[in-house]
Amino acid sequence: MKNSIRFSLIYVGVLAALFAVYFTAQVFENEMSEQLKRDLRETANLVEVAYGKMDSSDGPVASLSDFASENLRITLVDKDGKVIYESDAEAAKMENHRNRPEILEAFNKGSGENLRYSVTLNAKVFYVAERLSDGNVLRLSRRLASLHESVSKTTPYLIALLAAIVAVSILIAFGLSRAFVRPVQKLAENLGQPELMDDEGIYKEIAPLVKTIRKQNRELQLTIELLSEEKKKTAQMRDEFTANASHELKTPLTSISGYAELIENDMAKPEDVKLFAGKIHKEANRLLSIANDIMTLSKLDAPGESAIDLNETVDLWPLASGCIEELSLNAGKKNIQVSLEGDAAAQVQGNYKLLFEMLYNLVDNAIRYTEPGGTVKVLVQEKSLTVKDTGIGIPEENQPRIFERFYRVDKSRSKATGGTGLGLAIVKHIAEVHHAEISLQSAIGVGTEITVAFC
Ligand code: ADP
Repeated sequence: MKNSIRFSLIYVGVLAALFAVYFTAQVFENEMSEQLKRDLRETANLVEVAYGKMDSSDGPVASLSDFASENLRITLVDKDGKVIYESDAEAAKMENHRNRPEILEAFNKGSGENLRYSVTLNAKVFYVAERLSDGNVLRLSRRLASLHESVSKTTPYLIALLAAIVAVSILIAFGLSRAFVRPVQKLAENLGQPELMDDEGIYKEIAPLVKTIRKQNRELQLTIELLSEEKKKTAQMRDEFTANASHELKTPLTSISGYAELIENDMAKPEDVKLFAGKIHKEANRLLSIANDIMTLSKLDAPGESAIDLNETVDLWPLASGCIEELSLNAGKKNIQVSLEGDAAAQVQGNYKLLFEMLYNLVDNAIRYTEPGGTVKVLVQEKSLTVKDTGIGIPEENQPRIFERFYRVDKSRSKATGGTGLGLAIVKHIAEVHHAEISLQSAIGVGTEITVAFC
């Protein structure tokens, strides 16, 4: 990258040098021809003055040859255009010159000029013509040096100039590329330590880049911190869950083990054996419930692996009446009226089994936390399910936590009614996988209303 910056800078430098040389030569050539034109005009004036003063005995024509040289051609034309003197050739042999542009102009206006290409001389020739007092026209001409000729003399200087420009551009290229690349390199080296990234020596042009990199770097650090915090939190939650789960499993196991030991050691009176067996049965059921709930939660934690189909069309009414049916025995034992109301045609997209489990937990709680004689109402609506009871209610300060795993407001009541502390955690999880929102309204002694709204 550094190399390519250098090469492009050198390339631009060389190109600039070539252009500079070309334009210098062009300007040089123009200046030279302008100079030559000025010279020729002045010489023409001089020759004209001299011509007027020339000794007529020799004839003015003969004296004109004194002015002519290899570089200065002199022609004299009479009124009719006939060449009476020509420094480069024999005048007599020359054709009529009246129609040469500069001569014609001189006849008409007194003086004339023309620049044209001469095939004979293979060069551009500049002509200046003046009408003389005797009516003749004096014409001076000089060959313009070609670009090549004018440049050839200055070639060594131009080569030196070219070499100097290239050398300077190479130096600048190295300096610039270092100045460009250094801060970026420094930045890359100190990427993990924003405090080491200073603004010193940073080019204004690359400052936005440095700023962006710095910003992204900070964001990256923040994301890493957040992720590690999240990871820590997840690990902490998992540890908590494991500790809670083992504790929850230990309690019924200790009871079971205790009762079994009493029976085994003949320490239970025969009439107590049945009672103990009943207790063992109850605790074993608790264990089963906890194991089931833990399994449900772990399945929900890894939804990808268990491949839950969330695209079933679920009719909410039969789902709710199925739940109520299954729990009718529990409700009946407490003389609690469970009613079903709402839209019999309500449907949602989701997983039937999970939604059944969710509503089952809600209705089960409503029955368990309602005093005998109370009522539970299940309201089925398009895109929502509501379970409302006239139960004991949940204190406001406990409301934010009841969806946590193993969280209970009243431990003994939960356990006495066969609760695992996982029911609402499962409800929350199932709502989440269905992108549904849970809302809770509860007042002590009045009752609880939980709504799951699907989007
Ligand atoms: P549990 O198995 O203990 O019922 P849940 O996760 O289902 O566990 O509920 C958590 C706690 O929320 C319960 O222990 C109970 O204190 C409270 N709770 C849940 N539903 C109701 C309700 N309908 N009325 C009153 N309290 C409730």
